[in-house]
Amino acid sequence: MQSSVNIGSPENYPLMLRSFPRAIAHIDCDAFFSSIEQSLNPSIKGKPVITGKERGIAAAMSYEARDRGVTRGMRLYEVKKLCPDAVILPNDYETYSLFSKRFYGILRRFTPDVEEYSIDEAFVDLSGLRRLYHAPYEVIAMQIKETLERELGLTVSVGLSITKSLAKIASRENKPSGFTCVRGYDLNSFLKSMPVSRVCGLGPNSSALLAKHGINTVWEYVNRPEVFVRKLLGKVGAELWQELRGDAVYRVMKGENKHQASLSKTKTFTPPSHDKDFVRAQMLRNTESAFIKLRRHHLRAGSVSVYLTDHEFKSRGLYAELTRSTGSTLDAAVIVAGLFEKLYDPRVKYRRTGIVLSSLEIDKEMQYDLFQDVCRVKKLETISRVIDEVNQTYGKHSLHLGSTDLLNRFAHHLGDRGDVALRKQNLLPGETFRRRVRLPVWNVKV
Ligand SMILES: [Mg+2]
Repeated sequence: MQSSVNIGSPENYPLMLRSFPRAIAHIDCDAFFSSIEQSLNPSIKGKPVITGKERGIAAAMSYEARDRGVTRGMRLYEVKKLCPDAVILPNDYETYSLFSKRFYGILRRFTPDVEEYSIDEAFVDLSGLRRLYHAPYEVIAMQIKETLERELGLTVSVGLSITKSLAKIASRENKPSGFTCVRGYDLNSFLKSMPVSRVCGLGPNSSALLAKHGINTVWEYVNRPEVFVRKLLGKVGAELWQELRGDAVYRVMKGENKHQASLSKTKTFTPPSHDKDFVRAQMLRNTESAFIKLRRHHLRAGSVSVYLTDHEFKSRGLYAELTRSTGSTLDAAVIVAGLFEKLYDPRVKYRRTGIVLSSLEIDKEMQYDLFQDVCRVKKLETISRVIDEVNQTYGKHSLHLGSTDLLNRFAHHLGDRGDVALRKQNLLPGETFRRRVRLPVWNVKV
């Protein structure tokens, strides 16, 4: 190991002379859950937002809440004392995983070399893309960052460097919405005063052990001989030592589906009913709602399952895999109605229907095979677009399937998350939450 020769005066020996032997970006969404809530509801932007209401503890918090001293795991009554104006919401994991799906979909537009590290963190191998994009790595990484922020409506922090370990340290440097680039020849200055606790893989125990040997910074760590590090921290310690010196040991593990997203809608009704048309209408209304949400997130579903729950809370369900993924309500309604026919038993009273969409895909240009009716698919896409436009203007479900029309006679009840959305509470005289008067509204604080 020639490295051990350098101990005398390490400053004189740069760790790396090349700028980008490899180019690895670590991309991390900032305050993911609460940023999504703020992105979906602009009226809570800039406010301290905390999720975790259903469990009574803060699961995630926005930077505004963090600045006020709210930490993860804090009990909500403590949060309220600290931050009386906090917006506290239940976690909506389904929506968060749909955002995650879109996050990865956007990244894969740039390169297939994407590792799904967690729900909101990815490693992307950009090596070799300079020629394709006619741009330096910094510019490509910035383009990825801007695209993510524009399309998702939340900020991300990007670290660009030559190994995964270095990129991960870099992405934490300027949060939120940071961009930190550490080239090979920047390593000396970057690692100089970086505490070892910043390295992913060196936890509090390892840091304490290293401190006993006089190693407090990453710089001091990488300038000890490899044999010393290996003896102290084993194989992982030695691998990190190489990574931090700029020699990539860990590869970007491309592959999808570590975090399967699905989307579900259920509806409970009282009293239980064995009116077939009514129960079918409930099932199809769930289908409509599920597909509206699916399209809002620019996704398509490859499989559908439906279930019916009877008045004794026993559920029965059926699952169908589609021959081609779809985002169209009409397309799916035929399948759901078929499954319903098989499930429905006229002797049973039902109290709940539900639908789960899975095998979700990003809605990009479809690859059709020879036997698919392309004209029909295009037509359905147009119909979906029109349905969404009409409903956006005149209220959700204004334009609906004929078989769900009978539901309009029934009153609305609380949503899945138990909270009535603000936009549904703020009604003008004569409005219902479905039918809104198209007047501009100003909320004036007096
Ligand atoms: Mg994050």
